[in-house]
Amino acid sequence: MHNGSEQHMRISIIGTGYVGLVSGSCLADVGHTVTCVDIEQAKVDVINNATAPIYEDGLDELLSRNVGKRLTATMDLEAAVRESELTIIAVGTPFDGDQIDLSYIRAAAAQIGRALREKSDWHTIVVKSTVVPGTTEDVVLPILELESGKIAGVDFGVGMNPEFLREGDAVYDFMHPDRIVLGGIDVRSLSTLRDLYAPFEGVDVVETTPRTAEMIKYTSNSLLATMISFSNEIGNLCATAGNVDVKEVFDAVHLDRRLSPLLPDGSRIVPSFTTYLEAGCGFGGSCFPKDVKALIAYGKERAASMSILEAVIETNNKQPKKMLDLLFKHIPDITGKRIALLGVSFKPGSDDVRESPALPILDGLLHAGAHIQIHDPIVKSLPGMLETGGELTWHSDLTTAIRDVEAILVTARWEQYAKLPGMLQDESISPLVIDGRRMLDKTLLPNYAGIGISEPLSRTLADEDRLDRLE
Ligand code: NAD
Repeated sequence: MHNGSEQHMRISIIGTGYVGLVSGSCLADVGHTVTCVDIEQAKVDVINNATAPIYEDGLDELLSRNVGKRLTATMDLEAAVRESELTIIAVGTPFDGDQIDLSYIRAAAAQIGRALREKSDWHTIVVKSTVVPGTTEDVVLPILELESGKIAGVDFGVGMNPEFLREGDAVYDFMHPDRIVLGGIDVRSLSTLRDLYAPFEGVDVVETTPRTAEMIKYTSNSLLATMISFSNEIGNLCATAGNVDVKEVFDAVHLDRRLSPLLPDGSRIVPSFTTYLEAGCGFGGSCFPKDVKALIAYGKERAASMSILEAVIETNNKQPKKMLDLLFKHIPDITGKRIALLGVSFKPGSDDVRESPALPILDGLLHAGAHIQIHDPIVKSLPGMLETGGELTWHSDLTTAIRDVEAILVTARWEQYAKLPGMLQDESISPLVIDGRRMLDKTLLPNYAGIGISEPLSRTLADEDRLDRLE
């Protein structure tokens, strides 16, 4: 992937969150010189000590290999911009309740613009944050021009380069991209972006306008979120159908050759796309919920119907409650009862709890007065939690987390939770296991409930008679 012969660049990256820090570490590792900028001193200090302030597989190794050599962190944005030739904006773009909140983007653009005022060399500014179509050209570019007193395309370049990394696999994804999307306001901006990614060989590169690049990112995330809510809607229907398990349904749907192509030898390619076609307790994280909502708001401003994506959010908002419904159906009063909750982050391999479905579930358990035993392989606390009616204890050991509980709720698909059936064999009582990710073998658990399963239909005497005659 890394051809080693290309021109290396001096890069500044604004924002050292999941995207900024992973991009910065990987770009340094392939040979560029990178300065990471953040407004939080603590993050800057931790990075300069070659430790990651977030959990991502492989990130610590990248930092220890590059910090102090090709990677440094600072709070001095203007100096970082002046001393680099390309600046990547990777600050957060939350949803403010009505629309995308561009305040961090605006602030970063204004600071970069002020730094450019003092700089005579050509500079390129690239938006990597996820922003609604038009933001780079209609918001960032005018702020840069205003604050720098310079003209885009004449004195500096502007581009948009969305990021597709998946949290939990962020380093791998950045180093092995499935596509690189480059949006440029002109030929020179695009050419600079091409140089930035020159070390990544053999990857499909899409060169386009900033607006299209922005739209590509939202379309990708919205498609995946739609697949999940579609699966959950089908799962919720299966739960009412009588003697139907959504897992069996989707396992068979996945066998469609258009979803998992058949090879001539009869084997199949099983794309990871099929993992978005499974029912569960809903999607979370810092991207899907806010991005789908931002796109809906963007569409509404343009009088475009966004009814599919509205339904995606509506279904997803209700999905964590399905776990509580299942629990209360089996154990109507959980006051003072011990309940284990396994998996707090929104997905395995990540410590990100933003919009995690585990949070409303936790909240519901606490309000119902349960004693919750939490396990998560990485997350060890939830700052600012919680208005409680119940009690909450953290367990780093899975065995102690599930000891003496009445019910176990699996809310994230960590591999080690697949061992639950074996672990529970040694317990004297069989707690109710509610599988929010449909990852457990239900035949091995006597007291199993899961999203998308309906009870066997009770047979009428007429049915029995008919079946007898068929046999
Ligand atoms: P984050 O909240 O983890 O990090 C943002 C960082 O920017 C914070 O450390 C914050 O302190 C810093 N910051 C804010 N204003 C600043 C300023 N003026 N100067 C310097 N630093 C500043 O966000 P994230 O998850 O890395 O996401 C960043 C962007 O990338 C968002 O638009 C997001 O939608 C997009 N994105 C995220 C992912 C993901 O998996 N997290 C994937 C693709 C795209």
